[in-house]
Amino acid sequence: MKDNKEDRVISPNHKPGDSLDQALRPQSLAAMIGQNQIKENLDILISAAKHRGEALDHVMFYGPPGLGKTTLAHILAHEMDVKIKVTSGPAVERAGDLAAILTNLNAGDILFVDEIHRLGRAVEEVLYPAMEDFALDIVIGKGPSARSVRLKLPHFTIVGATTRLALVTAPLRARFGAVYRLDYYPKKAMKEIISQAAESLEIPAENQGIEEIALRSRGTPRVALRLLRRVRDYAQVRGNGVITSEISRKALDLLNIDQKGLDSMDRRVLKAIAVKYQGGPVGLKTIAASIREDPDTIMDVVEPYLLQMGFLQRTSQGRMTTRQAYLHLGLEPPEDAVQPRLIN
Ligand code: ADP
Repeated sequence: MKDNKEDRVISPNHKPGDSLDQALRPQSLAAMIGQNQIKENLDILISAAKHRGEALDHVMFYGPPGLGKTTLAHILAHEMDVKIKVTSGPAVERAGDLAAILTNLNAGDILFVDEIHRLGRAVEEVLYPAMEDFALDIVIGKGPSARSVRLKLPHFTIVGATTRLALVTAPLRARFGAVYRLDYYPKKAMKEIISQAAESLEIPAENQGIEEIALRSRGTPRVALRLLRRVRDYAQVRGNGVITSEISRKALDLLNIDQKGLDSMDRRVLKAIAVKYQGGPVGLKTIAASIREDPDTIMDVVEPYLLQMGFLQRTSQGRMTTRQAYLHLGLEPPEDAVQPRLIN
């Protein structure tokens, strides 16, 4: 199956060209734009832990990619003035790998585990006592003479991130003291993020030009930063280097991103449901197969945004396109087309 996740300009997944964004990462809670409720909760968590002189509670962030989960993990380390070690679910293959990481941590350190839902069962079993009792159970020897030895670990903090909370097992989830959901950013916050990045990168940009990028970056900072760079290229080659409203519009049209931030994959998904399956309901795997795309990309990236925009509705029988989706695609909506239920 074709997986062109990485070809999409608006893919919120990390790409090598995004390394510049590291420099743009906010370092403190105060410098981070948006997600106010999470920031306030974290502020309390940090102050309380500092006041007691303890390590932070284990924290989990979930939500679509590119919204700031990794950024928040780094901010936590910065605010607590501790070291952060970064790994991911698929990278920790064996229980021994995790034991090696854990025994190298110092008291208070943060272990950031991205894609925590992809940790193997055996690895998870080691993590439970480590998170709860700060202990590592090691089996020495084999057969009847084997015995288990308990190794004490320093009090560390796990910061987990996932795009799929539903795939995190209940016992793992229960071991996190705090679980926060990151939402798409509203336009105002997106504009602020883009203008701040334009300023840091010394890109001359007019307010209207920034607004146009904000409207089309699907409420996702990573997408916004990438679009900003593409529009800058366009401005330098086709204009005089300044990001104006017209330059933004032309550059984004050329990238096939429409006014609602949908790209060709989003539109293909909607069209498949609307035309091939007469508006649904249809299962997500069937849709993915019919347009020959990766179901994970559709589930993590395409679907949450289409739901948020009110173009898609999820029912117990499958996904359905809404009246608004037909209109957006320039199609005549059927009489019984569902009305969008906007999330916000
Ligand atoms: P995730 O871990 O959720 O996939 P990241 O934390 O890697 O997302 O964020 C993606 C990019 O967006 C980063 O390069 C970061 O600089 C930027 N970013 C995320 N959230 C914000 C924000 N609130 N303000 C400014 N930049 C942000």
